[in-house]
Amino acid sequence: MIDTAFFLQSGEIQESFLAGSKIAAAILTTLVVLEILSYDTVMALYKRDKKLYLEGLAMNFVNHIAFGIPIYVASSQFLMRKDETHASALAIIAQIVGILLIHSICFYELHKTFHTVPGYYKYHKFHHRYNTYTPPSAASAVSVVEYLVAYMGPFAVAGAIIRPYMTAFHASILIVAAGNVLEHTPFLEDWSQKYMPVFWVTTRDHLEHHRKLNVHFAAPTFDIDWVVERFTTTTTTGTCSTPSSPSSPTIEPEQK
Ligand SMILES: [Zn+2]
Ligand SMILES: [Zn+2]
Repeated sequence: MIDTAFFLQSGEIQESFLAGSKIAAAILTTLVVLEILSYDTVMALYKRDKKLYLEGLAMNFVNHIAFGIPIYVASSQFLMRKDETHASALAIIAQIVGILLIHSICFYELHKTFHTVPGYYKYHKFHHRYNTYTPPSAASAVSVVEYLVAYMGPFAVAGAIIRPYMTAFHASILIVAAGNVLEHTPFLEDWSQKYMPVFWVTTRDHLEHHRKLNVHFAAPTFDIDWVVERFTTTTTTGTCSTPSSPSSPTIEPEQK
C-alpha cells in the first residue's frame, strides 16, 4: 500500500529545499554584487592576506548552503504556519517587525556574550580578523558555531514565538541577510550615518565595532545599543553607561 503521507511530506520538504536554495542564492548574489562594487577594499585585503580573504569568502558559501538551507527546511516544517491564504498584509507586516525585534535582541545578547564572557570569544574571533579591511564577504565569514548560534539561533527563537507565515519569515530572513552584507560594505559608511534612522544599525556602527571591538554590539537591523543607551541614560544621573569590560582584546592584531 502506498504511503501517501510520506509522499506529501517529502513533497513539502522538496518545496522547502527549493525555497531555501532560492534564499541562499539571493543572499550570495547580493554578496557577489557588493563584493565587486567594493573592489578597492577587496583588493587591499587580498594583497595583505590572500588566505584570509579566500577562506572568508568560502565560509559564506559553506555557511549559507551547507547549514543555512537544511536549517531553513527544518524551520519551514516546524516553525512556519501553513495557512497563509487568509493572512492580511497587516498581520504579515506585524510578524516581520516582531521577528526583526526578537532577532535583534537575541543577536545583541549572543554577540555581547561572545565578547564579554570568558572563553566564548574564540567562537567569534575569526570574524574579527577583518578589522582594517572589511569587505562584504566578511558578513558571513564566521565560525560554524557562530553561524548556528548567533545567525540561525535568533530566527529559531523568533519563529517559535511568532509562528510566522512563510512570506513574513522569508522577508525577515532577506532583510537580516541584506542588512548583514550592507553593514560590511565600507563605501556605505558615510551614507548610512547620514540617512539611516537612529534606531537602525548603520554600516558606520558595525565597522566601528570591527575596529574597536567593545562598542556597537547590535546588528544588523534594530539598534539595541541605542535602546540600551537611551534606557541607561534616563535611569542614571544623565550619563551613558559604558560597556562592561570585554573578554575579547580591545585592539585585535591586524588581520591575525
Ligand atoms: Zn561584522
Ligand atoms: Zn564582535
